[in-house]
Amino acid sequence: MTPIPRPGILEVAPYVGGESAAPGANRIVRLASNENPLGPSPRAVAAYEALKDELHRYPDGAATALRAAIAEAEGLAVERIVCGAGSDELIALLVRGYAGPGDEVLHSAHGFLMYSISAKTAGATPVTAPERDLTADVDALLARVTARTRLVFLANPNNPTGSYLPDSEVRRLRGGLPDHVLLVIDAAYAEYLEAADYANGAALVEAFDNVVMLRTFSKVHGLASLRLGWAYCPPDVADVLNRLRGPFNVAQAAQAAGTAAIADRDHVARALRHNTRWRAWLSEQLQASGLHPYPSVGNFVLVGFPETPSHHAEGALAWLKTQGILVRGMAGYGLPHCLRVTVGTEEETRAVAEGLAEFMAGPGSAA
Ligand SMILES: *Cc1c(COP(=O)(O)O)cnc(C)c1O
Repeated sequence: MTPIPRPGILEVAPYVGGESAAPGANRIVRLASNENPLGPSPRAVAAYEALKDELHRYPDGAATALRAAIAEAEGLAVERIVCGAGSDELIALLVRGYAGPGDEVLHSAHGFLMYSISAKTAGATPVTAPERDLTADVDALLARVTARTRLVFLANPNNPTGSYLPDSEVRRLRGGLPDHVLLVIDAAYAEYLEAADYANGAALVEAFDNVVMLRTFSKVHGLASLRLGWAYCPPDVADVLNRLRGPFNVAQAAQAAGTAAIADRDHVARALRHNTRWRAWLSEQLQASGLHPYPSVGNFVLVGFPETPSHHAEGALAWLKTQGILVRGMAGYGLPHCLRVTVGTEEETRAVAEGLAEFMAGPGSAA
């Protein structure tokens, strides 16, 4: 006999992150994980470096300065903010706090993979609702709510599709949910949106007891390595998260860098301008190469490939890798005919556009 994990754990397929190495290639262009190509604010780096002589100290378990900086920058109530080691940790804690065996966790068909992984590790059952044009469909989600539903996760905008729901649709979703179902709005890419009909969900959190908004420092703030995210919660949900989380779940270096990053509005503005410009350029180039870039409001583009076996997505992924260019395969998301390409630096974005143009113009991969 050996120790046996709880039922379901061994059925969980672990999350596989974007690739970060291309053996044999003499350069590496990393466009597989939606990281900020400009990196973090120099002020965040300085704050991180300033902590190097304090590594023997425990962090501030309440993340006091960081939460105050977030509240200030976003105009939010500090007591409703709970920080986590990436929003991934908060996704897992929300599921653990509100769902278990026999319960259902609902999300749309091409929603972020961590929702179903977290549901399974908690012993709960993930349930998916079909999408319309690769966009969450409120009616389809509501039609799948049962007496067992405990949480609904909505990535808005969604990764990997790049689509979003307007505020009116998110409100319609919440309005159709029973009061005991927690709606988690994962707004990891909120900063990138300029659309007037979009809202990140903070106002809904303040208006209703069953809505949580998640945010991250991994995307526009360029701090993915430090693992830092936050939740904006109704008071009862904040209380649950604060009981479940580790007492020192966020490293002090992450707190310090995050505090500096969120106050550096110029750096965020630079990153957004860069993204808007090169996302549009990339989409145009991909289209001109005969590919199908889906409209995206994030820092990435989902690209559809032709049916022709010589020019399908899998072959392109492998071919780009031989050039040292790493993008994300989408088979795990049920989109095997697509790749997801992060908007990189100018040089990186040009490299991936050229690489895909060559792939499409050439014989492709041996079918
Ligand atoms: C990148 C991403 C996150 C952020 O995860 P972290 O754990 O904060 O790095 C959360 N949700 C979605 C939809 C994402 O794409």
